[in-house]
Amino acid sequence: MVGGAGLGVGHRGDGSLLLMAPYEIRVIGDPVLKQRAVDVTDIDGRLARLVEDMVQTMYDAPGLGLAAPQIGVQQRLFVWDLNDGTGAHTLVNPEIVESAGEWSYLEGCLSVPGLSWEIVRPKDIHVVGRDLDGNEVSIEATELAGRMFQHELDHLDGVLLVDRLDDDQAKDARRQVRELMWAIDEEPVAPRRGLSLR
Ligand SMILES: [Zn+2]
Repeated sequence: MVGGAGLGVGHRGDGSLLLMAPYEIRVIGDPVLKQRAVDVTDIDGRLARLVEDMVQTMYDAPGLGLAAPQIGVQQRLFVWDLNDGTGAHTLVNPEIVESAGEWSYLEGCLSVPGLSWEIVRPKDIHVVGRDLDGNEVSIEATELAGRMFQHELDHLDGVLLVDRLDDDQAKDARRQVRELMWAIDEEPVAPRRGLSLR
């Protein structure tokens, strides 16, 4: 399934209907993940439809966040749902204006399925951007939420979590990623459940 042709409907084993993600998530090795995305210029109905598809794709994966380049769209926006009861959110043209502290966290990514590493990043961040109505948004986030914003923003700059590893981690990671890419060539890899972040 490629492209935004709307929601596909499939059948679960028990016969119930299942909404299927309209987009395929791009995985490491896809050049689109290494490019810097461009600013969104029009916040309009078309963008809202793209966001609906992104949210469905994120829930289907399932992941806590999804950036547009992960579905091959080179625009600066991402969606997230931290399971805090407030549902899915969107940030357009996000920018981190302040960061503080240090926090180590086991980080995974839907685009690097099945792998995760302890990565140190700032603990507290202040991110600004726009919502789908074009209004300015200002969010202060810490720990998991702060990590999610930094991870998704990295995607907009063409940075993957493997680019954030220290030298000790990087050697092992190169081997793991090579094996992952061989596996992807052979058959689609299902993201492993239980990863701490997507
Ligand atoms: Zn990711």
